[in-house]
Amino acid sequence: MSTPVPFNALRPGEDAAAVRAAIDRVIASGWFVLGPEVEAFEAEFAAASQSPFAVGVGTGTDALTLILRALDIGPGDEVITPPLSAAYSALAVMMAGARPVFADIDPERLTLDPRAAEAAITSRTKAIMPVHLYGQPADMRAFEAIASRHHLALVEDAAQAQLATSDGRAVGTIGIAGATSFYPTKNLGALGDGGAVITRDAQLAARIKRLRNGGQTSRYHHLEAGANSRLDEMQAAILRARLPHLAGWTARRRAIAGQYRAAAMPAAVTVPREFDAGHVYHLFPVLTPQRDAFQAHCAANGVETLIHYPVPIPRQPALAATSPAMCPVADRVCAEVVSLPMYPALSAAQLDAVTRAFSSFER
Ligand SMILES: *Cc1c(COP(=O)(O)O)cnc(C)c1O
Repeated sequence: MSTPVPFNALRPGEDAAAVRAAIDRVIASGWFVLGPEVEAFEAEFAAASQSPFAVGVGTGTDALTLILRALDIGPGDEVITPPLSAAYSALAVMMAGARPVFADIDPERLTLDPRAAEAAITSRTKAIMPVHLYGQPADMRAFEAIASRHHLALVEDAAQAQLATSDGRAVGTIGIAGATSFYPTKNLGALGDGGAVITRDAQLAARIKRLRNGGQTSRYHHLEAGANSRLDEMQAAILRARLPHLAGWTARRRAIAGQYRAAAMPAAVTVPREFDAGHVYHLFPVLTPQRDAFQAHCAANGVETLIHYPVPIPRQPALAATSPAMCPVADRVCAEVVSLPMYPALSAAQLDAVTRAFSSFER
């Protein structure tokens, strides 16, 4: 049997010594929530993201929810979002008290379809929330035009797209704000949960800083009913140790994607097009109507695959009643999509094993 290829490798590698030093530094400091590590990480992450402001929060989901709350979007309001994403994109809208409205995805780009999104606008719509899915930027030029035509907020779910650019512009800075996640599998992952909001808007950043900390204006003075959602000092220090590696890791992801694209895919498998060179390849999905057979064949060759995502979000029991949707493209993609291993630590031998596994797949 060839070299086994797990779907992911989350243990620190080349960054392990820096991560350990960061953990030791926080332990020695005796200060664990809202301190110098978070402040420094916010400045460093803002710079890396080409954004004037970054605010560290508890999770990527909270980052989205707090953006919506800071925009005064809540009960009675609608937010247009894609049916193909991590369910947390839409759950964040519900946590803000608003209703997610699903518009179908573009069949090639696999991100929210601008025309479908515009058609879903009602008098209750307050925001459009595209997701830069798999690391590929959504069609932001189209969404900017729609948002300005209909006076809607444009909020970016950039959880899978750290350092990605859309037409050369940093994702998360194109709309009013962007949310990202430091869940361990993300391109920049913590050793636990974490998230951040990036924005060009100083007032919005200040409101989110207040909302993440109980709505306090000063200690024990709560102006509004905020959340308790802080990026802790330990995770911030770990992320500071890892952030300097992110550009190199992103280059490696792109190189792996290039090798997958160059390899001969079996006739029954389609590789989605790259629409923007700013793609950061959080995942590498392919599509095949023979998904079960393809996954079984990969597994037999030691290559682990996963499905992102098996169920369109509006088909989830948690949302089916309140946010029903017609989304035939997402329905088909969810039935056919399968992700190949994609992470910077993939060795040449492992890459070889993956390309050999799919080139030997026969329908
Ligand atoms: C991971 C992810 C989220 C949620 O982030 P958490 O940190 O897990 O809350 C939201 N949207 C997308 C697209 C994601 O990939």
